[in-house]
This record gives sequence, C-alpha cells and structure tokens, in this order.
Amino acid sequence: MDYRQRTLKEDVSCTGVGLHSGERVRLKLKPAPPNTGIRFIRTDLPGSPPIEATFKNVIDTTLATTIGYNGCRVSTIEHLMAALFGLGIDNAIVELDGPEVPIMDGSAAPFVFLIKTAGIRDQDEPKRFIVIKKPFKVEDGNRSVHIYPSRELKITYTIEFQHPLLRNQTYELTFSAKDFAEEISKARTFGFLKDVETLKQNGLAKGGSLDNAIVVDDFKILNEDGLRYKDEFVRHKILDFIGDLSIIGSPVIGHFNVKRSGHFLNQYMLKKLISSKKHWKVIKFKSEKECTDEAVKVPAFGLPDSAFA
Ligand code: ZN
Repeated sequence: MDYRQRTLKEDVSCTGVGLHSGERVRLKLKPAPPNTGIRFIRTDLPGSPPIEATFKNVIDTTLATTIGYNGCRVSTIEHLMAALFGLGIDNAIVELDGPEVPIMDGSAAPFVFLIKTAGIRDQDEPKRFIVIKKPFKVEDGNRSVHIYPSRELKITYTIEFQHPLLRNQTYELTFSAKDFAEEISKARTFGFLKDVETLKQNGLAKGGSLDNAIVVDDFKILNEDGLRYKDEFVRHKILDFIGDLSIIGSPVIGHFNVKRSGHFLNQYMLKKLISSKKHWKVIKFKSEKECTDEAVKVPAFGLPDSAFA
C-alpha cells in the first residue's frame, strides 16, 4: 500500500551515455532493505563507498545535481531520482560504472519503464512523510520557492524566458504516480543552441544531441518531431524539481510554488527547510485506516498499467 516503504522486485539495468561526460555508462538498479534510502555505488572504482542520495552529499549544482562522498562522485542524478520518487521507491541501490547517470532520451520516462520492468515490492516498514506545518520561502533575485501547508503534494511552477517559443509557462501538478508518469516523466531536458555550442567548447554536454534534449535556436525547435507537450519546458522543470526535492529523503506533503528556480536554489531551499524544524514534522502511518484519519492525504503512489502505454 501507499503508506509502506517500497523497493524493486528484482535487478534491472540499462546502458546509455552521460550528457556532460559523453561516456558510455551501464546503470543497474537493485532492491534494498527498508530504511536504506537510495544509494549510488561506482563499480568502476573498486572499494568505493556507497554515496547516499541525501542533500548532505550534494557537492555541485552547476548544470545538473551532483552528489559525492569521500572523493567519489555521481552527477546528473535528478531524472533518475525523480522516477524513483514518482513511483514511490524508497529503497534501492544504483550501480554505475562511470561518473554520470546516463541521460537516455533526456526525460525520466526510460527510468519509469525500467522500474516497471523490475517490478515494485511493498516492504514491512511504514514510509516517513515530511509534512509542511507553516509557510516558508527562499528567494534569490527574481527566483523563488514558496512553500505552504497542504493536504497533498502540489507543485506550481512558472518559467519566464525572453524567447518567442517559451515566454511564460505555468503548470500545476497535484502529485500522483499516474500523473507523474503520464504528464511529467516524458518531458525532456532543453537547451538553447548558442548555450549548447559554448558548453561543447568548454568540454561539457559532450553526450548531448537532438536524441536526448530539445534544442531551440532564436526562433524554432531544431528537433524534427517537435515537442511531446506544448508546454514541455515547464513540465521538465517540474521533473527536475521533483528529482531535487527527493533528495530530502522522504516524500514531502505541502504546496510548492516555484518561480524560475534551478538546481542551486532547489538545494538551498532543502537545506534551509531541513534546518528550520518548526516548519515541518515527520509522520508515519501504521495502517491504511490511519491514512484517512490524518489531516493529510498519502500521495497516491499506485500506478495503473495504462501509465506505461
Ligand atoms: Zn533535467
């Protein structure tokens, strides 16, 4: 049930390239016992310590979210983390034989498919939920994250770009695994052609191509097949936000109103929120009945097969 911790039924793996390193990487997801959390292991560095996916281990937020521990690092974890969070997976081991999670098609849909292939198993321990008790905000110039108490996890996201194709887009997600899989997980990362060229000159985005990112020049989308949703850009920002939020280690129940944020402000927000203990509390549900007795609703992590069509 949705209030219990979850892991995978069996091992599952895939291969792809790292967006920034351009290196081919093999990724394996494995089941893990209750209260393990999500742990990354670099199998190409023998004897390397597991890196726990927690905000304490975030060491870089330039272009992607990177975690590290004792000299080992793994970057671009956010799309995989979003898929794990989106399907309610609390415990898993992620093995990688390179420094970066493969970018796949630039969205979280391939990871959603991978988790579905492995199967999902309920565990005996209840999940911990972080429930927002009081309004809270972080701001950085015209970027902001405002957080409010709410019965459910809700994310309202606004982007603003001086570009004829993007301009202002707002999307509101009331979280369920079904809506995450169908409306958010397929949205791809995006970049501007002039930025992509600069990144490549600086040895970044080496694995980037029209197969794993939406690329726009000054007027149009360069991908032949166009967009998956007309507001795919803001949907991808919600995907990134969910991936970054998941690093808090527990599903959060609250309303996040986000304007123009990015990985840096997302991580700053998490650190400020965690250290400000009067703004949240941790709850667990001991039974399904108890879920309905509380003033909050447990996020619907159950997923119909149609979500993978
Ligand atoms: Zn992204």
